[in-house]
Amino acid sequence: MNLTEHPENSAQYASLNVNRGIAQPPAVNPYPTERKKRRDYTPAEYTEEIRKGNITVLSQAVTLLESQKPEHQAIAQEVIEKCLPFSGNSVRTGITGVPGAGKSTSIDAFGTHLIHQRNRKLAVLAIDPSSERSKGSILGDKTRMEELSRDAKAFIRPSPAAGSLGGVARKTRETIILCEAAGFDTIFVETVGVGQSETAVHSMVDFFLLIQLAGTGDELQGIKRGIMEMADGIIVNKADGNNIEKAQLAAAQYRNALHLFPLPPSGWTPKVLTYSGYYQMGISEIWDMVDEYIAFTRENGYFERRRNSQAKYWMYESINEQLKNHFYRSPVIEKKLPDKEAQVLRSEISSFAAAKQLLDSYFNF
Ligand code: GDP
Repeated sequence: MNLTEHPENSAQYASLNVNRGIAQPPAVNPYPTERKKRRDYTPAEYTEEIRKGNITVLSQAVTLLESQKPEHQAIAQEVIEKCLPFSGNSVRTGITGVPGAGKSTSIDAFGTHLIHQRNRKLAVLAIDPSSERSKGSILGDKTRMEELSRDAKAFIRPSPAAGSLGGVARKTRETIILCEAAGFDTIFVETVGVGQSETAVHSMVDFFLLIQLAGTGDELQGIKRGIMEMADGIIVNKADGNNIEKAQLAAAQYRNALHLFPLPPSGWTPKVLTYSGYYQMGISEIWDMVDEYIAFTRENGYFERRRNSQAKYWMYESINEQLKNHFYRSPVIEKKLPDKEAQVLRSEISSFAAAKQLLDSYFNF
């Protein structure tokens, strides 16, 4: 025994024992399993997986179409094109209401009802005009829809965050196509009851549902008349506890107000119902109403007409958006725009002259 090397191995330290060490293992695992990368599917493979109902691939395709990168956009557009023949086979419902009206609670309850009582597959999408500024979307957020987020038959996707309202809306509309190709037969598009987003949602759904509350004064003052005119159904939420009577009164007032509007082009008189999203009362009646509306408009041809005019609208919207993007992103405009804007602000040049000069530089570039 070499005592100079390990003096503690001498007899006087009998209780100590130094074993021979083992060779230091390499810090790097020599047998790495190949790291799972997100596969780069071809557009045909994306479509095939989406058609099989592969939710992971569906999510990836939606991420691609939300991406700003032209190469992602190009793949996404091809996937959309390929999915288009398999789309259209769903009932698309727009759901709006001011913050606090109970949208997330209601969507959770509606979705659970539709999936478990009516055997539907549900995709919840959203258009959130505020997400551009806040850089994060609350609407369509999974954490707000506890029941649904655990349900395998539900696909929840928050609002695309980047871009103009037109751009955000286009992405949501394209997501509808992908979801339908993946077999979702019920689509919700949620939005907040402020600003222009209702018009965008209205232009992509078959049924527009407005969630209202009793006692907000809207029903008396006729506020949000524009939104009320778009609604195919108005539902007064929180009709529970000692709020039931107030909710019923509000519903009666909405019904009266609706009588003053001309009959909408669908030929359908919008219905007003009361319910409680939280206590799940009156939910079935709401979906009976939507089913009744769909049957009614399919019968009188309005369903088809509305879908066609929406398709036309989106063609023009898409042209407008892309022309605008092309203009603002062209190098000559990016260079000249700040100066022109400053000149307008200093009243050195009129807005119209500035616009004309910029457009001339763009077209002559
Ligand atoms: P959102 O902002 O429109 O999504 O509204 P939420 O779903 O987050 O609901 C706002 C608040 O209203 C929450 O505190 C809910 O618990 C409550 N709430 C929602 N639905 C009902 C309902 O049917 N009855 C009652 N009493 N409260 C509700």
